[in-house]
Amino acid sequence: MTDPKPKQKKPRGVARLLDGKCIACGARCQSSCPVNCIEMTDTGEPIVEADKCIGCQKCIKICPSTALEMFFTVEEQKILAELAALALPVEEEIDPEAAVLARKLAEYRGVWVFVEQTEGEPAKVSWELLGVGAELAEKLGVELSAMVIGENVEHLCLEAFAHGATRVYLMDAPVYYHYRTEAYVEASCHLIEKYKPEVILMGATGMGRDLAGAIATRVGTGLTADCTGLSIDEKRNLMQTRPAFGGNIMATIMCDKYRPQMSTVRPNVMPMPERREGAVGTIIRDTFTVPEDSVLTKVIEIIRDSHSKGTVDITGAEFIVSGGRGMMAPENFALLQELADELGGVVGASRSAVDAGWMPGDRQVGQTGKTVRPKIYIACGISGAIQHLVGMQDSDMVIAINRDGSAPIFEVATYGIVGDLFQVVPAITAKIRSLKQAKH
Ligand SMILES: Cc1cc2nc3c(=O)[nH]c(=O)nc-3n(C[C@H](O)[C@H](O)[C@H](O)COP(=O)(O)OP(=O)(O)OC[C@H]3O[C@@H](n4cnc5c(N)ncnc54)[C@H](O)[C@@H]3O)c2cc1C
Ligand code: SF4
Ligand code: SF4
Repeated sequence: MTDPKPKQKKPRGVARLLDGKCIACGARCQSSCPVNCIEMTDTGEPIVEADKCIGCQKCIKICPSTALEMFFTVEEQKILAELAALALPVEEEIDPEAAVLARKLAEYRGVWVFVEQTEGEPAKVSWELLGVGAELAEKLGVELSAMVIGENVEHLCLEAFAHGATRVYLMDAPVYYHYRTEAYVEASCHLIEKYKPEVILMGATGMGRDLAGAIATRVGTGLTADCTGLSIDEKRNLMQTRPAFGGNIMATIMCDKYRPQMSTVRPNVMPMPERREGAVGTIIRDTFTVPEDSVLTKVIEIIRDSHSKGTVDITGAEFIVSGGRGMMAPENFALLQELADELGGVVGASRSAVDAGWMPGDRQVGQTGKTVRPKIYIACGISGAIQHLVGMQDSDMVIAINRDGSAPIFEVATYGIVGDLFQVVPAITAKIRSLKQAKH
């Protein structure tokens, strides 16, 4: 009798990073590792300590950009080949933890957009979010819904249908007339717990930021603020892209273990969807209300900001002529104002110009300023730092005027003029004027 052949152990390998594939998603690989053998670099990429790795493949499964692979030594590859040649049925390892998670996540379905309103007047960003929400819902094969909370706000349901929603969750009661965090959080969480949406989008406005943070804390999920891109991966996760590390890189953030996945998006970042006049859908009225006595905040009076009366709203402008550090002095902005007046537009600025005190803060375009989407954006003496670009690169047309031909602004420009803005800008203004005069 011969001794039975000792069973060959299947090599597990070690994880390793593939060059150039990591998108610095926020250390998801590191947080998934059960033996803490992943360190992150300053740029957000993982370093795997090979001698500690137990080859569990959790980091590989969680990575949204397939940036990690299993590495096997030549010896291990031989053993794997031998095992494969024996063609023994390999029992699939079922990870019970993953199975429980998958079941939990599957309870959540649908994309929701919070419709922001003040005294019945909707915020435009809500409709922009229905546009991107429709794309996400289509990818996920689910319904796009709007969440409308207020008093006498039924007209907003019809508007939501016109902008792409097919269902509206409506809470209409006096206690919701004014936005107050306590009442709106109670109402929203009631709906979320009852209907379990997988994605919730809100405007990154004062109200949206306040409400989204409070809801995420209450329901125990993640929230990504100020997203500039949203899409769905093959595991139904929402890929939320936003500037990170001071805007120097774009990070894609995911919330793959919790639902709903929540994002805020600033006004003008997403395009406005086409209006579907007369579109209809289902309104689900929920009579849940919050007792007025339980809401500590009382709105006594709404005082409009008189300071903002004379200010310019650059976010709604169709033509923006922006100046940067290349303008050299505040009085030189008069040149831009002249051009803006000819076009019927407004003057914007880079942060450097605002920091120098040449232009007021409400004119700043960019990551820490406003996001704009005009028909024409004319950048004068602006280098095109990424923090500026994220605020204007979705303009229909960008015209850049800079004396440095290698300035990054030219990378996003439809038309680039390499030259001295003090000659170019007055020449454009004069040309427009003469064209207008010739017309009359
Ligand atoms: C966290 C963070 C947030 C930020 N947020 C913002 C933001 O919201 N918005 C923003 O704009 N920046 C922001 N910044 C700053 C950003 O990084 C840049 O420093 C800033 O945008 C540069 O402004 P600029 O292009 O006017 O100045 P510069 O980078 O100094 O560029 C000046 C340009 O003018 C050109 N120039 C000079 N003279 C002339 C001339 N006579 N004719 C033609 N061209 C000329 C030069 O060639 C140069 O390209 C942020 C930075 C950080 C770290
Ligand atoms: S394979 Fe497992 S043990 Fe190895 S680095 Fe990835 S998560 Fe950690
Ligand atoms: S992209 Fe992949 S490798 Fe890079 S940090 Fe995220 S999970 Fe880790």
